[in-house]
Amino acid sequence: MVSLLDLADITEEGVAFQSPVDGSQMMLTPERSMQIQNDIGADIMMALDDVVSSVCVEDARFEEATHRTLRWIDRCIAAHSRPSEQALFGIVQGGLDPRLRGICLEGLKARDEKLPGYAIGGLAGGEEKAAFCRVVSQCTAALPPNKPRYVMGVGYPLDLVVCSALGADMYDCVYPSRTARFGTALVPEGVLRLKTAAMATDYRPIDSECDCLVCKKYTRAYLHAKITKVRKTLNPKP
Ligand SMILES: [Zn+2]
Repeated sequence: MVSLLDLADITEEGVAFQSPVDGSQMMLTPERSMQIQNDIGADIMMALDDVVSSVCVEDARFEEATHRTLRWIDRCIAAHSRPSEQALFGIVQGGLDPRLRGICLEGLKARDEKLPGYAIGGLAGGEEKAAFCRVVSQCTAALPPNKPRYVMGVGYPLDLVVCSALGADMYDCVYPSRTARFGTALVPEGVLRLKTAAMATDYRPIDSECDCLVCKKYTRAYLHAKITKVRKTLNPKP
């Protein structure tokens, strides 16, 4: 929904998407979202929320989205057919406005019995870092301490450390896997570029202190060979 916001039309009923492939209309309602996630058996199910880009300049849109997110959480809770097997997370919206975040936090906490976890949404969209930290901090301070708090769309390694220090527990960002796919590993000292020529004869693991499968089993040289070979196969150069 965030990625396709330009192709989406949000109404009280749900989100109407225009297919980027053939232009056909698709309607995602809170009920349909729950049904899909029930069907695939997701361990953690995300509520359908009304998300607004954090750098949007229309205050009224954030007000509307905050209240709609609370109306939709009731529809999500009502439509969730396997609450004893799958955990539904509510999502806090409200942009960068502490008042709106407060309304959303109180509204979700009033439904705490039905929500095994919480997500902090609507961030990591290009807002100022200080504003981002203020919102995460307000949310983690207000959310029940016995439930997981998940910051959506974060982030760079430093953001993960900062958010964890602010009390967040979970993230979903593509950064680590995408970075790995491009041949860079994240190590305690920073980044390790496995494509560089020096790695071709480096027989140490990525991180000698780490006991993950990759570090236990493979050398930097092996990974270098794999990554550079894949690149050559994908981009054959004369
Ligand atoms: Zn490792």
